[in-house]
Amino acid sequence: MLINEVVRVRYRLGLVGEARRTVHVATATPGELYRTLCELVMRADDVEVFDRPAGAPCMFCTRALALGSESSAGQCDEVVFGSTGWEIAR
Ligand SMILES: [Zn+2]
Repeated sequence: MLINEVVRVRYRLGLVGEARRTVHVATATPGELYRTLCELVMRADDVEVFDRPAGAPCMFCTRALALGSESSAGQCDEVVFGSTGWEIAR
């Protein structure tokens, strides 16, 4: 994983429901994490990585790309692994 490389990522099959498997635009960060334009932090082990557009795009990431700004993109709900499985954090 190269730091600051822009890639497209989505959760691996089976980790979340299909509706949450949209493809985000992200950069790799230290600690084997990806940070998306919609402000999700995803573990490298949890995602599929694409070097070109694939799958259904995250609308928040798409909006951020179009506007050229992360701050106005909005945020996806953060998904975390809790005691009962994957949960929405906020
Ligand atoms: Zn996104």
